[in-house]
Amino acid sequence: MGNDTVIGLEIHVQLLTKTKIFCNCSTDYFDQEPNSHTCPVCLGLPGSLPVLNKKAVDFAILTALALNCHINESNIFHRKNYFYPDLPKAYQISQFDRPLAENGFLEIRTEKSAESRNIRINRAHMEEDAGKLIHLERDGKTSSSLVDYNRSGIPLLEIVTEPDIQSSEEAIVFLQTLRSIVQYLGVCDGNLERGSMRCDANISIRNKENGELGTKTELKNMNSFRAIRQALDFEITRQRRLIEQGGKVLQETRRWDESSGKTVFMRSKEEALDYRYFPEPDLLPLFISQSWIESIENNIPELPDERKERFMKDYKLPHYDANRLVEVKPLGDYFERAAKNYNNYKQLANWILGELLCYLGQENIDIDKSPITPVALIELLELIDRGVISGKIAKNIFEEMFKTGQSAALLVEKSGSTQISNKEEIDDIIEKVVRDNCETVQDYISGKEKAIHFLVGQVMRYTKGRAQPDMVLSLLRERIDKT
Ligand SMILES: [Zn+2]
Repeated sequence: MGNDTVIGLEIHVQLLTKTKIFCNCSTDYFDQEPNSHTCPVCLGLPGSLPVLNKKAVDFAILTALALNCHINESNIFHRKNYFYPDLPKAYQISQFDRPLAENGFLEIRTEKSAESRNIRINRAHMEEDAGKLIHLERDGKTSSSLVDYNRSGIPLLEIVTEPDIQSSEEAIVFLQTLRSIVQYLGVCDGNLERGSMRCDANISIRNKENGELGTKTELKNMNSFRAIRQALDFEITRQRRLIEQGGKVLQETRRWDESSGKTVFMRSKEEALDYRYFPEPDLLPLFISQSWIESIENNIPELPDERKERFMKDYKLPHYDANRLVEVKPLGDYFERAAKNYNNYKQLANWILGELLCYLGQENIDIDKSPITPVALIELLELIDRGVISGKIAKNIFEEMFKTGQSAALLVEKSGSTQISNKEEIDDIIEKVVRDNCETVQDYISGKEKAIHFLVGQVMRYTKGRAQPDMVLSLLRERIDKT
C-alpha cells in the first residue's frame, strides 16, 4: 500500500497595519478592553462606508511578491455572504474571481531531504477579519456567548497553496518558512497561538496504482505547529485506514480537538455554505499600477534565505547553524549584534543555539527580552577565550547571569572560579594524584593510553574544574615520563 498523501493549505495572515482595512480603528486588539476599538464601519452599522487602507494593499503586494506571485493589475472586492454573530454585516468583504495575486511558489527544504522543493501558491487575496466570540461555560456547557468586535476589520491576506504538500513534516516546514518570511517583511508577527497567523488544511489520499485522487476533508482549529502536525498525522492515518478497510472518505469539514487528540466531524458537504458572492458596490475597483508594484519590489528587505547564505559566507557557519539562526528574525539580529564585536563566530553560534535558547525556552522568554544581552554574552565568551575560566565553569556562570542579570566578570570574581594558571599550584596537585594512584600510573606506563584520562579527571576534581584540561594533560605526561 504505497498511496500518497495530498495536502493543500489555506493560511490567513493578519497584516500589521496600524489601522484596520476599511476604517481608522486601531488594529492593536490583543488584551484590550472588548469592543473598545470599533466604529460604525467595523461594527457594520447601516449607512457606514468602507475606505480601503493603502498600507494594507502595500503589505499584501509585498508578501505576494516574496511568494513569487503575479500581481493582478485590476482587482475587485466581493461580498461573501453568511450569517454568524462575529460578522455584524452578515457579509465579509473579500476577493473572489479577481484576487490580488496568483501563480506563485515557495521553496522549502525539509531536514530529511537533501533537495529543496517548490510548493505552488494558487492565489493570495485580501479580506477583512471577523470579530471574536467568547463562550462562557456553566456545568461544562456553553451558557452564553459574548462578542468582541475589536478584531473585526483587521486586514488579512489569505494564501492558498496548490495540493503539493506530501506530509505533515512538509506542511510544517512550509508554514515555518512562510512565517519566517512574513516576519522578515514586517507584515505579520506570525504568532499562531494568538491567531495572527491561522492555518486550515485540505487532505486527501491519492491511489498510487490508478492515480485517482480520493475525497478530501478540510481541517480547522489548529492553533500551534504542534497541533497542526498532530491533526494532519491523525487525519492522514484515519483516511488511510478507512480506505484500507474498504470504507469511503466523506467530504466534510473536521475540527481538531486538542483534548482528545482527534479530528472530529464539524459539517458535511450538504451543509456547506453558498456564499452568494457579488461585487462590493461600496468600493471602487482597485487598480495596481506597474510603478506601484515596482516601488514595492525595490524595497523588499533581506529575506531569510539570503541571510542564511550571508551567514554561511561571512561568518563561515555550517548550514545547520545558519539555518537555525535566521529562522526567527530576532535570533539572527541577536547573533549579528554580538558578532559585531566578537569574531569566534562558531563558538558564538554554539552558545546562542545551545545554552541561550535552552534557558529562554525553559522560561518561555522571547529572544529580544533575553536577560543576557549580546554584549554580556561576548564578555563571557572572551573570558573563555583568554583562558580565565573553563568552558565548563562558563556554563555555571551563564546560568547565574541568566538568573541575576549580573556581568560575567563580576560573577567570576565573586565565585573565585578563575582558572588556575599558576603552574606550581597544579604541580602540587599532580604530585598528590600520581602518588595516590600508583596502579593507574603503572597502567599508563605499560601502554594503556586511556589511563591518563582518569588521572586528568582526578586533578580536575581537586581543582574543582578550575584547571585547563590540556595543560593538566601535558603536565601529567611530563611528570610520569620523568619517573
Ligand atoms: Zn472601525
